[in-house]
Amino acid sequence: MDRRRITKLGIKYLIACLLSISLFLGCKEDKQQPPLVEEELAIAEAPADVYEFGFNLNDFVVKRDTIKKGDSFGEILERNKIGYPKIFHIAEKAKDTFDIRRLQVGKPYTLLCTKDSLQRPTCFIYQPNKVDYVVINFQDSIHAYKRQKPIKFVEKEISGTIYSNLSVTMDSLHLSPILTNTVADIYAWTLDFYKLQKGDKFKIIYTDKYIEDSIYAGLDNVKAAYFEHNNEPFYAFEFVTDSVKGIMDYFDENAKNLRRAFLKSPIKFRYRISSRYNLRRRIAYYGYKVRPHKGTDFAAAVGTPIMATANGTVTKSTYAGGNGNYVKIRHNSTYETQYLHMKRRNVKVGQHVKQGDVIGWVGMTGNTGGPHVCYRFWKNGKQVDPFRQKLPEAEPISDSLKAKYLDFIAPIKVQLDAIPYDDEIFEDTINNNNNLITSNN
Ligand SMILES: [Zn+2]
Repeated sequence: MDRRRITKLGIKYLIACLLSISLFLGCKEDKQQPPLVEEELAIAEAPADVYEFGFNLNDFVVKRDTIKKGDSFGEILERNKIGYPKIFHIAEKAKDTFDIRRLQVGKPYTLLCTKDSLQRPTCFIYQPNKVDYVVINFQDSIHAYKRQKPIKFVEKEISGTIYSNLSVTMDSLHLSPILTNTVADIYAWTLDFYKLQKGDKFKIIYTDKYIEDSIYAGLDNVKAAYFEHNNEPFYAFEFVTDSVKGIMDYFDENAKNLRRAFLKSPIKFRYRISSRYNLRRRIAYYGYKVRPHKGTDFAAAVGTPIMATANGTVTKSTYAGGNGNYVKIRHNSTYETQYLHMKRRNVKVGQHVKQGDVIGWVGMTGNTGGPHVCYRFWKNGKQVDPFRQKLPEAEPISDSLKAKYLDFIAPIKVQLDAIPYDDEIFEDTINNNNNLITSNN
């Protein structure tokens, strides 16, 4: 994305958002400080310039409305005292930029009219969505063009302590599911979200997009994140590895790629591990005899998508007795994975799959007491515990980029480390601020 980071205003925000005993959420309140009194006096004489769509609105009589049922470009202009020969001429000249027949009911438009008694329209501006707008200017010669409203990027910091599981904790912080999913995706290879436990902590630095300061337009990116699980740190920093192709990846504080050859789980993070790989498992039903479990059971709702945990080729996709609907994938000469009890399969034998591709859906076919996927991990033809394997990085950073990366993340790591948790917040409230990053396209 092409964006210029122009200003970094240190606007102070009020942050005392204690959401629960163990939670702290920074930067959700956008309360700006009141303007200085001297400034108000200085500009009291003339109305302040108001720019929108690239015009100073003070130069015009501004008429705003939305497209109504039965409205057309011609009727709108005619209502505003422009005759038909001219309307045809305008539509003809504008057609390469915008087809005036594409006006949609309910979308806003603006007419900029002369400030004299005639209030003659000189400009028609149509907004097909929050960001884009089309200008048809017929003040002198007729010209039409498309533009985008400036987007403001607001960097935010958040920290929290896990008191239940990740999604519950993130939900209670009123964070968008998109942010939760993005963070879960960043750590999909390195953290087992099921194993996150009460007292584990996290911090995230991310950027939200706003149009005209106030209209929320979604998550832009996650710049850095930190999880503390069992007192072990898990850092993640976003870094562009190929600026030409626009490829970015997440690496840890030692420049190790967070992506691995295998995902930790074939299910996105909303699951529960109901049974682990255990060669000495004893089951009451069988009179406490040893019944080894060579798979890992991920319990999830029927219909939850099941993902290939690594790139590979499907070697089996069939229905068989106790396994029910199952899929097996060969990844290379060493590793294979297998997924059992599917409700439905989504791949055929011989098909190439990529890591994260949906290969089927959770069900309870075959020998199973409840909906889950039994995930089996094969190394050299033997079933092993995937959680005990040291799996290779997906794509290690190149030596030439490594030094650059470490320089790049140094200040971000300082920023991340300085984000306080709830118990530190009271002394620190005053020092918290968001960094505003504005941009014009
Ligand atoms: Zn199983």
